[in-house]
Parts: sequence; C-alpha cells; structure tokens
Amino acid sequence: LPATGPLGLRLDGVGFTYPGDDEQVLSGISLTLAPGEKLGLVGRTGSGKTTLARLVLRLQDPSEGAVRVGGLDLREVGPASLRERIGVVTQDVRLFSASLRDNLTLFRPSPDDERLREILVGVGLGDWLDGLPDGLDTEIRGVSAGQAQLIAFARAFLADPGLVVLDEASSRLDPATERRIERSVARLLDGRTGVIIAHRLSSLSRVDKIAVLDHGKIIEYGRRADL
Ligand code: ATP
Repeated sequence: LPATGPLGLRLDGVGFTYPGDDEQVLSGISLTLAPGEKLGLVGRTGSGKTTLARLVLRLQDPSEGAVRVGGLDLREVGPASLRERIGVVTQDVRLFSASLRDNLTLFRPSPDDERLREILVGVGLGDWLDGLPDGLDTEIRGVSAGQAQLIAFARAFLADPGLVVLDEASSRLDPATERRIERSVARLLDGRTGVIIAHRLSSLSRVDKIAVLDHGKIIEYGRRADL
C-alpha cells in the first residue's frame, strides 16, 4: 500500500460465515469509499457491523467476494502495510502490561520522546503524562476505560493510517474524557478514509455515506444527504 495519504475502500459482493456455522453473518455487501470519504455503519445488535469492521481490518477474510483497500485485495497486502496503514480504535482497547511507550509503539522502535509527547498532548493526555513517575517508561496499570481509548487514539496517530475503523464507545464516559475523545475522533478522521460504527445518531453528522445493516445485508446505502 502507498506509505502516505488516504486509502480508498471497496467491498465487492462480500459474504461471511463464521467457521463451523451454517448461517451467513454477512451477504452481498458492496460499497465504495473514495480516499478521504467516511462511512457510518448502523444497524441493530447482531446485524453484522463488528464483523464487517473485522473484514476491513483483515482480522477475518471474506468467505465470498473481496475487500479492496487502495485498489489491492487485502489478501495481497503484507502485514506491515496492514498494521501501519489501517488503524483502529474500538471500545475494548487492549493495553499491554508494559510501558506507555511500548503501548504506543507496539514494541517497535520508538520515535523520539518529543514526538510521542506531542501525540499524547494532542489527545489530551499531556497532563497525565507529566504526572507519571517515569514518564513514557512508566508501566501502565489501572487506567480508566476513557484513558485507554485515548491511548488507543495516540497509537493510531503514531501509525498515521490512511484508513481508520472506529467503533465508538456506547457507554458514557466522564464529560472531560468525552470531549477529548470527540476531538480525537475529528482529528483522526481529518484527511483519512473512515469506517465508523455509529452508536449515536449524532456521530453520523461527520460521515459522507451511511450503510444500514440488517441481518447481514445492506438494506439502505447512500450519501447522507440523500437518505
Ligand atoms: P453489536 O452492535 O452488538 O456489536 P453487530 O452489528 O456488530 O452487533 P456482529 O457482532 O457482527 O454484529 O454479529 C453478527 C452476527 O454474528 C451475530 O449473529 C453474532 O451472534 C454472530 N457472531 C459474532 N461473532 C461470532 C463468532 N466469533 N462466532 C460465531 N458467530 C459470531
């Protein structure tokens, strides 16, 4: 994949069945996002939103059809490109029992401290960083769900992806954290292609297109302005 810039996304007749299941969780999914466009995914619980997001992240391969990013079938994209160019922030952020630095870089060589600090300040974690006993080398434990999300945003900014998948928090966080997350979402989507699993109607205000899923099928799809 190209090393910089937003990446287009295209799903062509995508179907998916979980191994061992006989029922399709997704079927006949086709949609296109030009580089920089944002898609809002909506649908009730169990409609297949998370599964669709997993296919875009290549955590699963489709049983039918293809997922294309930047014009390439995801099955042909190397692991380094996947990791660096397709970003994700989900509700259940996994933090390692390791330093803040390693949690941001995912154990890869670290950019200089100034860059990491700048990113943490950008997501509203500057004061928190300043209060840590060993700064970036502090082992992180006991962070709140909101802080964990902000760390996940910082991780995403560091990788500078061209396509991001966001699964918004449905649970309420404290107002200050909500505002930081809100700002981070806006900044992360700026200039990038995005797939947003929307749990709130208000989040649809920032998307270009909306797809409504029902029982694994798209029942409505189009430009936000036309729906
Ligand atoms: P929610 O809003 O609750 O997250 P969703 O729209 O994201 O729901 P999915 O999580 O994609 O929906 O689930 C779609 C269907 O796939 C559901 O019927 C679910 O039971 C099934 N499913 C999800 N994960 C698995 C799995 N690992 N193995 C088998 N079936 C699964």
